[in-house]
Amino acid sequence: MTAQTIDGTAVARKVREDVAKGVEELVARGGTAPGLATVLIGDDPASEVYVRNKRKLSVAAGMQDLHRHLPGDVDQATAAALIDELAADPAVSGILLQLPTPKHLDSEALLARIPAEKDVDGLTTVNAGLLAQGRPGLRPCTPSGVMVLLDEYDVPLKGAEAVVVGRSVLVGKPMAQLLLERHATVTICHSRTRDLAEVCRRADVLVVAAGIPGLVAADAVKPGAVVIDVGIHRTDDGLRGDVDTAAVAEVAGKITPVPGGVGPMTIAMLLANTLAAAKAQQGLED
Ligand code: ADP
Repeated sequence: MTAQTIDGTAVARKVREDVAKGVEELVARGGTAPGLATVLIGDDPASEVYVRNKRKLSVAAGMQDLHRHLPGDVDQATAAALIDELAADPAVSGILLQLPTPKHLDSEALLARIPAEKDVDGLTTVNAGLLAQGRPGLRPCTPSGVMVLLDEYDVPLKGAEAVVVGRSVLVGKPMAQLLLERHATVTICHSRTRDLAEVCRRADVLVVAAGIPGLVAADAVKPGAVVIDVGIHRTDDGLRGDVDTAAVAEVAGKITPVPGGVGPMTIAMLLANTLAAAKAQQGLED
């Protein structure tokens, strides 16, 4: 069997087009275009690239680019004051603190200052709690992007066996909760899991977010399973995921490529969250 490729680039484009339409409608109804405040501290080249893409695509969707840059040696109080200023600014619909921040800063304390309704990355304790309780809130971009991919490719979730590899706050944990919300039977694997391959082989839907290149091989995949690879690693052979894609594609039913799978969805969902945040703040929800 050769798996169908899940085209994240195409789905992400569609999501961004829908967001752009939503922004036009919001403005037509008398609202203000959403403003996205990306906050970059320091000059990490990878972070600069990520932030530049987020800004570019938010502008392409008709949003206001309210980017702020702080020097890498900024102190905690100054960084906190910037977050507070953005929190109070009605033009700012969403605040995105680019992680990781320089080591001398307490990024959790900075994140905690972002009001839940402007937390477009879905990373604050309040939004994590709302998700855990199954109440509406802003959801983390990467796992919500995975949910959109699963829906676009008509992957049945109700009663399905879903296995999530990884339990990070950013991906694994919220991913499991989103799958649970859709009535999948969810198992979470991590570094202490006994016989990872055996557990993964149960999965109808296998989501891998462990941050280990090639962790999941073909023997960990049930024939016909849907395999979602959240990992991304720069290697000598180019970008690679947490899944041995070439071998697993011979077994799986559907699979995301790296790059071009989950990656592009993350920014698309950031834009969707920013639009939703703006609508809620302006009292113009559908
Ligand atoms: P991400 O950015 O994708 O969320 P992190 O590096 O923050 O990834 O976290 C990696 C996650 O993967 C952790 O939750 C950890 O428990 C999990 N993990 C690490 N090693 C393994 C392993 N060998 N098998 C399964 N899960 C693992």
